[in-house]
Amino acid sequence: MARYTGPACKLCRRENLKLFLKGDRCYSDKCSFERRPYAPGQHGQRRGGKISDYRLQLREKQKVRRIYGVLEKQFRRYYSLAEKRKGITGTNLLIMLERRLDNLVYRMGFASSRRQARQLVSHGHFTVNNRKVDIPSYLVNVGDVIQVREKSRNLKVIQEAMETVVRRGIPEWIEVDKESFKGVLKELPKREDITMPIQEQLIVELYSK
Ligand code: SF4
Repeated sequence: MARYTGPACKLCRRENLKLFLKGDRCYSDKCSFERRPYAPGQHGQRRGGKISDYRLQLREKQKVRRIYGVLEKQFRRYYSLAEKRKGITGTNLLIMLERRLDNLVYRMGFASSRRQARQLVSHGHFTVNNRKVDIPSYLVNVGDVIQVREKSRNLKVIQEAMETVVRRGIPEWIEVDKESFKGVLKELPKREDITMPIQEQLIVELYSK
């Protein structure tokens, strides 16, 4: 499936926020955003004038897409599904993104970034309820068990990710058993559990036009 393969750090600089797309590097002084906290390109340091509502909404949508590594078409699809569900559309959208298998692999600490998680999932290193699943966008349900396949447990990237996950912590709505390389989605996150600075109502406004 198509995906963005350009420089990840540019995306953080564009969104004016650390999106943590590169694992360990994001926590080091090599982080490009720490060094150059302004938009990329020739006019990146220019002070902006008045920002239109549309631009704010667009930037928020792009930011969330980039955090979760989702392309426009699929993001739209999540939005349509979120709209049809009971409850607040923006919250439904974020919960759906959190249920993606690549996101949960990252949240559980089996990968050091969502990008890496996506790659590990597509290379077939995980099972869901004992069946191999290699689709990063697979939507995990409450109670589903995600596990690193036995043959993949010695992979350096997975081992390193498991060692460094303490840095960001594992959310309470997930349970991880490191010994058996296993994690369970205990319950769906509530809005307040998603702590990244996201204003999802701006995305709803954008798509409701
Ligand atoms: Fe973003 Fe990480 Fe690159 Fe820093 S190192 S700019 S947080 S992707």
